[in-house]
Amino acid sequence: MDSTLRPVLKRQLLVIGASLGAGLVFTYFFGFFIGLAVNIAVMVGVIFYIRRKQIGALRSLGFSDEAAGGGYGNTGVKLKYVCLSCGAEVKGARCGSCGSNMKKPLF
Ligand SMILES: [Zn+2]
Repeated sequence: MDSTLRPVLKRQLLVIGASLGAGLVFTYFFGFFIGLAVNIAVMVGVIFYIRRKQIGALRSLGFSDEAAGGGYGNTGVKLKYVCLSCGAEVKGARCGSCGSNMKKPLF
């Protein structure tokens, strides 16, 4: 059942890897603390960008998290969340397994 998740995870890992690589380049040229700050800023920026995109998509469609998976006409798009703490699929606002509300959208 993970077969649909893997390409998306791979793409997200690629994005995260690229931003980490950019951070390492900054670290190399500008020193540790500036590089670290840039790295954190990039990561936070990516996370906020993904979250805002996700929230905007849900709002414009008028769906809750649960309805978004099956309700949208485009069958190629499924909105899923994965818990950042335990990695389980999250339905609704909180993780059913560990109760964490830190979650990451999958496209
Ligand atoms: Zn969890």
